[in-house]
Amino acid sequence: MKKNPNFNREELILCLDLYFRMDYGQMHGSNPEVIKLSEDLRKLGLHKDIPDINAFRSVNSISLKLANFKRLDGNFKGRGMRMGGKMDREIWNEFHKHRDKLKNEADLIRQLYLKPKSKERSFTEEPRIGYKSEFLFQFHKNRETDPMVMKVKKEMILAAANKLKCEVCSFDPHSFYGEIGNDLMEIHYNKELKNEPGLEPSDMDDFVVVCSNCHKVLDKNFGLIEAADLKKLIRQK
Ligand SMILES: [Zn+2]
Ligand SMILES: [Zn+2]
Repeated sequence: MKKNPNFNREELILCLDLYFRMDYGQMHGSNPEVIKLSEDLRKLGLHKDIPDINAFRSVNSISLKLANFKRLDGNFKGRGMRMGGKMDREIWNEFHKHRDKLKNEADLIRQLYLKPKSKERSFTEEPRIGYKSEFLFQFHKNRETDPMVMKVKKEMILAAANKLKCEVCSFDPHSFYGEIGNDLMEIHYNKELKNEPGLEPSDMDDFVVVCSNCHKVLDKNFGLIEAADLKKLIRQK
């Protein structure tokens, strides 16, 4: 029989998130948390080809994965599992010292893949095109709507230019609307995210100030065009 697919990034993040919420002695297949994680991983729907459905993300496979993490864990004094994939180590290295980041990404994954989708939402949602993964898109959204990022970026621009204009189309809300146009601008995270956004620290230059229209175009084509491309496109017209 063919082997089941390896755990991918999203699955390993959920495993590691559970790992840090448990004592070493609890990491076995009859623990309710392990059973719950097994059910969740089966619901994620991230794999198409599952040759052995009974073994797929079974409680046993999860406790093995937790045992792999023990092997990488300097705090664990017993013997962990010998084997374990390269990806296990990558996820461990990326997150074991950054538990908050781990929790954020795990929450995001649960929100994206495990929340029951409400019908209402899917009716009103616009069709999106272009981007490689919903996860990366949501990751970009998360970053650009971080209140701290928005505040710092806007203050930086204001300090340098004294007003907030759209960096793409040059729309100036204050001169167009007057006083009530203050604070209309949005922030777009203008960085093409590769597969592992967690590895890419952002710097303030990765964010651009944009008007709502330009932002909509950029988000709709997320992963395909960047602010500079859109700017060129407008100029050519
Ligand atoms: Zn604009
Ligand atoms: Zn955006």
